[in-house]
Amino acid sequence: MVDLNALASLESGKLLLLGNEAIVRGALEAGVKVVTAYPGTPSSEVVDTFYRIAEKTGVYVEYSVNEKVALEVAAGAAVSGVRALCSMKHVGLNVASDALITLAYTGVRGGFLAVTADDPSCWSSQNEQDNRYYARLANIPMFEPSNSQEAKDMTCSALKLSEELELPVILRTTTRVSHTLAPVTLGPLEKSAVKGVFIKDARRFVMVPSNALVRHDVLLDKMKKAEEVSEGSEYNRVFGEGEEIGVIASGAAFNYAVEAVDKLGVKASILKLGLTHPLPSGKILNFLQGFDKVLVVEELEPILENDVRSIGFALEKRPKIYGKLTGHFPRSKEYSIEVVYHGVAASLGLAPPLEAKRQDSTLPPTPPRPPILCPGCPHRASLYAAKTTLGKEMAYCTDIGCYALGVQPPLEVGDILICMGASLGVASGISHALGSSTVAIVGDSTFFHASIPALINAVYNNHRIIVIVLDNLTTAMTGFQPHPGVEPTRGHRVMIEDVAQGCGVKYVKVLDPMNLMEARKALKEAALFEGPSVIVMRRACSVDERRKGVYSPPYVISKEKCNKCLACVKVLGCPAFHLSDGELKIDEVLCSGCGLCVYICPVKAVEPSR
Ligand code: SF4
Ligand code: SF4
Repeated sequence: MVDLNALASLESGKLLLLGNEAIVRGALEAGVKVVTAYPGTPSSEVVDTFYRIAEKTGVYVEYSVNEKVALEVAAGAAVSGVRALCSMKHVGLNVASDALITLAYTGVRGGFLAVTADDPSCWSSQNEQDNRYYARLANIPMFEPSNSQEAKDMTCSALKLSEELELPVILRTTTRVSHTLAPVTLGPLEKSAVKGVFIKDARRFVMVPSNALVRHDVLLDKMKKAEEVSEGSEYNRVFGEGEEIGVIASGAAFNYAVEAVDKLGVKASILKLGLTHPLPSGKILNFLQGFDKVLVVEELEPILENDVRSIGFALEKRPKIYGKLTGHFPRSKEYSIEVVYHGVAASLGLAPPLEAKRQDSTLPPTPPRPPILCPGCPHRASLYAAKTTLGKEMAYCTDIGCYALGVQPPLEVGDILICMGASLGVASGISHALGSSTVAIVGDSTFFHASIPALINAVYNNHRIIVIVLDNLTTAMTGFQPHPGVEPTRGHRVMIEDVAQGCGVKYVKVLDPMNLMEARKALKEAALFEGPSVIVMRRACSVDERRKGVYSPPYVISKEKCNKCLACVKVLGCPAFHLSDGELKIDEVLCSGCGLCVYICPVKAVEPSR
């Protein structure tokens, strides 16, 4: 783990940093004073790191209730002249986009940076969307680092450019850049305004149609200036002087392109783009003139390739452009050296390479780790209670969070999952279509993030949804960040049951899911209830409890009593169970002592260890 003290205070020198930590350092060097976020892999370390150094640096850090609110809070600071950053994963920008796109019209006064982390290959996400489209949609500048050093430098430059142009700016990373450790040379830490001033200017900040039309033209003018910056930017420059082929690349794909041409022994020049919106059209046009063949290497959508093709159209003698549109590079999944190596070789008409792997690829493959609820997860009990009480035929709409792993065997609870907070709305629609009760399963953090409007909608329209809030008192999936339902360090705790009642829900129950009798009773009542009901199943996350030093003694299996029926394994799927020398055992390190399997064993063979 990075030395937080050094990260927060050194004025020069080098540190080994993850891309996400480098973003923190870059923001400090630019004098950021307000940081907001909704955590989400691969972006979470940005806000988590800021949170740990908040006091030392005097930066206000907030885990906001969702990305839109995070962006709005940061925007409020920036329009008041205070430098601000908000961070989120790629899908978070969908939530925040409503505010972002109009913020581009009003502009800001202090630097404003939205950090968005894309996730090619969906390592921990529900889709593979390419957020480079957002820079084009909002018409604002975008930076794309390829490594930790650039993540630091570009964050700093992006905040300064934002303040100079009075425009919000996006820094887009991908998982590979966010989570790769690399040495970073530090710069001085800039002092900036902690307190802001909001200078009223309704024609600029109140986006009624007549003002918005004027501000749209202002935005277009600012982006002309941004294009001049992009043309002269040190982040958009040519590497190498090879004449055989031209390569245009950005982000993590640049690293693979460099390695691929090197391995193939191709004499290439590579135009690396770091300030990728607006593109430096003149620089690209100039580059294209020197080659018969140009490869565009980019992950996900062929955005750069389309732009390069359209820029090259102005040339009389156009080079052949190779990329996704010619089928040389794939349009889905994260790139690797192998993918780019094959793409470059195929574009050049070289024989498919026999050896395209990194040297470390001779290492044995990582053992498969099936996604499964953690041992002792209290919501194994919640899902078990729901399924055994409401039945297999019930439609279970689940949501974003670790409890979505309940969709795996043996529990298999979860029939549809779309996006944050969607379970309630989708359940309402299914319930309406079927004319019967439908279950919406949602986590505590997700409830606050995006479920409340759908709950109000269900109340107003009397949708028969049984909302089961799996409250584990933390945002476990993204690294145990707080949310409004836990004890705060400032402000007041917001209870989910109070919110539900305040929204007009007439059946609200709070219970401990380990009390299966009570859980079953409440589920039966909710199923008969005409209208929406909310059951808050509350028990702390077992992993978070261990992190805090709370341990319960593990359980053991009595060799004498156990008849090897395997009901415990087949019904609950707790990973603490394992077979050793033909004997079913409970791993005492993994077992959290939750005691749920005690209920399942028909012969009472599961016993306390002491
Ligand atoms: S008590 Fe049983 S269900 Fe709970 S963690 Fe241990 S083995 Fe798993
Ligand atoms: S349910 Fe009980 S009897 Fe059956 S395998 Fe598990 S511990 Fe043994």
